[in-house]
Amino acid sequence: MRQLAKFMAFRTKILAWYEQHKRDLPWRTDKNPYTVWLSEVILQQTRVEQGMPYFNRFKERYPRIVDLAEASQDEVLKLWQGLGYYSRARNMLFTANYIQNELNGVFPTTAKELVQLKGVGEYTASAIASICFDEAVAVVDGNVYRVLSRYFGESLPINSSEGIKAFKELANSVMDKQHPGDYNQGIMEFGSLMCIPQNPDCVSCPLNRSCIAYNSNRVAELPVKLKKTKVVTKYHNYMVVLDSNERIVLEQRKGKGIWNGLYQFPLLESDVNVTQAQVEKHLKSFPYIKEYELSLFNQEAIIHKLSHRKLLAHFWIIQLNYPIEKAIPKSQLTNFAVPVLIANFLKAFKIY
Ligand code: SF4
Repeated sequence: MRQLAKFMAFRTKILAWYEQHKRDLPWRTDKNPYTVWLSEVILQQTRVEQGMPYFNRFKERYPRIVDLAEASQDEVLKLWQGLGYYSRARNMLFTANYIQNELNGVFPTTAKELVQLKGVGEYTASAIASICFDEAVAVVDGNVYRVLSRYFGESLPINSSEGIKAFKELANSVMDKQHPGDYNQGIMEFGSLMCIPQNPDCVSCPLNRSCIAYNSNRVAELPVKLKKTKVVTKYHNYMVVLDSNERIVLEQRKGKGIWNGLYQFPLLESDVNVTQAQVEKHLKSFPYIKEYELSLFNQEAIIHKLSHRKLLAHFWIIQLNYPIEKAIPKSQLTNFAVPVLIANFLKAFKIY
């Protein structure tokens, strides 16, 4: 009984706080599932301030799902450039095509159906179902974990299977089933603006009287997260092949990596640093390279950090004194979607 009263007080305060403090965000103007889906995909692993210009660009270029479904992968990746986690963009395009062509352009309306779509996880499915279709399913993202963990003093690790299950149950028990959309947005907004990761302003928090973490001095300890898997270091040696007409060779990445579909210079990847002699040996396998001048653009490796990898990048300039067919004029390079690492090089090399 006491627990029920605590749940009720919690949800009432979250809704009241949200009503007063919600930000005026462009995807909150209507309950269109396409708009909400687009915003949720863009905002995964991305801060609102960083994601907002991308959302606006995508919404302007593709106002309806049919417009996105008709776009090419190259065009979508180019618009996505700089946001990272490129599989999100590829899955988004796949799903737009699927909804347009297989579901006659109509979004599924329940979380159970939505989660079947490629790239749509439980979190996004719950967000769309609750915001657009009033389904009483709780969202559980990083903000929700933090708020629930602190307020209810739940110390199970949020990235353990036991913790994930317990937080999901707690989130569904505590949510306001009469106003699922506003409640879900409210708790996420509360986590993002009030119950922030570092040094939240607990003294001004409307939940402080009954917040277990605050009253037991455990705010900095919660939520608990198990240590991440080890980050692997890789060496990326990019072969920047320039022909006599100042054109450059670009290749599209294939396979399953996060940069799949993006463009880059021919790459020699290794676990240890390579020498100039090894680069020269590698160049022998290029059918279009005969005579050349080789120089290293950056003596010191450029460090590029990804969630699971640390890349140490070197750019080798291979100047040819004859033209090659597959090279691309410098003026056209901006049309290709490239990883930020390559885009930064192109800027430093004065091509962008
Ligand atoms: S009192 Fe502090 S820790 Fe507790 S919910 Fe409020 S901001 Fe979060």
